[in-house]
Amino acid sequence: MAATINVRTRSRIEMVDITSQVQKEVKDSGISDGICIAYVPHTTAGITINEGADPAVCRDITDKLNSLVPAGAGYRHMEGNADSHIKATLVGSSVMIIVEGGRLLLGTWQKVFFCEFDGPRSRRVYVKVK
Ligand code: ZN
Repeated sequence: MAATINVRTRSRIEMVDITSQVQKEVKDSGISDGICIAYVPHTTAGITINEGADPAVCRDITDKLNSLVPAGAGYRHMEGNADSHIKATLVGSSVMIIVEGGRLLLGTWQKVFFCEFDGPRSRRVYVKVK
């Protein structure tokens, strides 16, 4: 069974660092060498890996996504959150990370970010380690 990470978001668009929670699931799996997949089962949220040292990077990413895909720009989707769906597709719904020595094999500056595009909401991330 996949593990579940619960994420409570606070804003309409937001990137939440979930690296420590994903790492905990790797530890709990007991697998020291393998693959970790983190998957977001939502249509208006995504997941990505990027720099976690300077919070300005996440601000730049979300600001640019907002300018590329503005809300309310004449979309057909009746629910009114077409921009959220488009942003989710641009970012993607899963990441795959190599596990070595029981640790996520991330680069020095890399963190795993849950990407909210239609918050605030309660969200889930599924994690599978094999
Ligand atoms: Zn929708």
